[in-house]
Parts: sequence; structure tokens; C-alpha cells
Amino acid sequence: MVYLQIKPWLDLFRRVMYTHTQGVSLIYTTCFKEFIMRLSFALMFIAAAFTIALAGCAKAQKPGEIRLGPLEIKILADAQFDRDAAILVSPENPDLLQNIPADFKMVSGVSVILAKCGNETVLFDAGLGKESGGKLLDSLQEAQVSPDDITAVFITHLHFDHFGGLVQGGKPSFPNATVYLAQEEADYFLRDISDIPEQERGRFQGAITCFAALESAGIPIVKFPSGSDLTEYFGDWKFSFKSEQAFGHTPGHTIYRLNSDGKEILIWGDILHVIDIQLSWTDISATYDMDTELAKGVRRRVLEDAAARSIVTAGSHTTAPGLFRIAKKGDGFIRKEL
Ligand SMILES: [Zn+2]
Repeated sequence: MVYLQIKPWLDLFRRVMYTHTQGVSLIYTTCFKEFIMRLSFALMFIAAAFTIALAGCAKAQKPGEIRLGPLEIKILADAQFDRDAAILVSPENPDLLQNIPADFKMVSGVSVILAKCGNETVLFDAGLGKESGGKLLDSLQEAQVSPDDITAVFITHLHFDHFGGLVQGGKPSFPNATVYLAQEEADYFLRDISDIPEQERGRFQGAITCFAALESAGIPIVKFPSGSDLTEYFGDWKFSFKSEQAFGHTPGHTIYRLNSDGKEILIWGDILHVIDIQLSWTDISATYDMDTELAKGVRRRVLEDAAARSIVTAGSHTTAPGLFRIAKKGDGFIRKEL
């Protein structure tokens, strides 16, 4: 603070002006050096204060938002569903279901994760789509992001609540975006279904129609092997960005880990659907899990790791604000606020 006091500055300025008019070059040089030194200290002080103020702003985040260095993450609400115990199964250990209260109910969201960094504005999944009641486009508008701004959409898996929002009225919702999905998921869902019985084609047809519309509109579709390191694969993002196999919910279900500024965020897709139950009893699966044996193993592995490293997590079907850490509690886990 001493360098910001006015009087020494005025005295110094007077001395500089005086010596300048007297033409005494040695004194002038000495005084001028002191002037420059004081000015440098003052500028450093102002710069430091400005940096601290900016850091303070970065920490003052709203619920559902976090900044990891240059990377901004925001949870966008798409829909909400009432959940009860009817969607929960435990074929490997049916007794576990007795832990669920008979009157159990909770509200579970459908969330889309927005990630912004540099010139890239990215969505993880695309929600249900407006025609099916999805509110993603409204949430984007609230976040002051235009659909035209979206440069990429990374899909966790090809269930309708995750890809439905890619297309609206037969046209791409995000005309400037490249769509990325795991090769394994594409191989399973975007296949020739002529040999599949008519009554079983429904779960494939939605994805096939959606991706055919994207292709015919010229939207680039990139299929990568699940588990690929996407750091160099993708755009301007220079921080660590990895995909990870989380097969079980679907044959190519893929989760994403972004690591920026030494902090990790895990986008865990559909590791679980009824968080209030499945954090406590991780062997309980949802009827949507195509391979419950695989799904429960993945759930356990991912949650154990997330708790051990206290990383920030974002799932597709959690509750607001949608970003949290988890911690071990007994044999299960609990949510921890950020
Ligand atoms: Zn889902």
C-alpha cells in the first residue's frame, strides 16, 4: 500500500521535473529510475488485486455450474420424471429390493451437460427433443447459447432420452455440430435390422431414423472406439479428455472424463437411474440396463473411483443441481455437495 500513497509520488514527480529542467543528468537518471520502480510496483499491485478479484468471481458459481481452469461446465435441464421402485431390478440378488421403502418415490431429471472452452461449445447428449417434451433448447437459450453455437455433441449411448434432441422436425437441431459416438454403440443400434423380428425393431428404429436424418443433412458423424483418448482427437481442447467403456447399460455405453486445471469431471451417463437407491445399494439395477451383471460391476467400479478421488460427477439422471461429489458410507455411497 505504501507505493500507492500520493505524497511520495508528488515529491518524486517534482524532483524529476526539477532535475529535468536543471539538466542534471545523473540525478535525473536516479530519480527517473525510482519513479519507474514505484510505477512498476504499483502496476504489479494492481495486476495482483485484479487477478485475486477474477479468481473470486470464478469461485462464485451458480448451482449446476463449475469452472475448471479454462473449461466451463453447466448442467442443462431437459426433463423430469417421477421415479418409484417399479423400474428397479436385482436379478443377481433379489433380496436387496427389500431395502426399498414401499412408498418410495423421487423426481429424477434428464440432464444434458454443456462444456465450453475456447472456440468449442459442446454438449454431452442431446436429451429427448422438443417434440417429446424435452426443454433443452429453452435451457440453452437461458444459458445464452444458440443451437448454431454448438460445435460438437458427444453421445453416451443410443437411448432416446440421450439422442432424441439431435433432430427436430427431421432437421438437425445443431447444424454446425459434429456428432461423436462410440463405434461399439453404433455397431449395435445403427445396424441392418431386416433380420430382427418386427416387434423388436422399435429400440433400434429411433436411432436409425435420427442418424439417417443427420447424415442426409451433411452432419459429420465420428465413431471412435470406446475408451479412446480424445485429447488430440478433438478440436481445440488441449486438456485431458478421455472416453471410457462402461458397457452394460447398453453394449457401447460410454462415459467421459475431462481433466482441466488439475481437476477432473466425470460425465457418467446412465451408470444409475434412481440415485437415492442405487448409491446405497449399487447391485440394484434399472430395467433399462440391458446387461445387469455388467452394469452393476461398472457402477461399482466407477463409484468407488469417484469416491476415492473425490472427483466432480455429472450424470444424466440425477437431481438438481446435478454436479456433486460422492463419498463412501458403509457398503454404499452418499452425495456430497461441491
Ligand atoms: Zn437415460
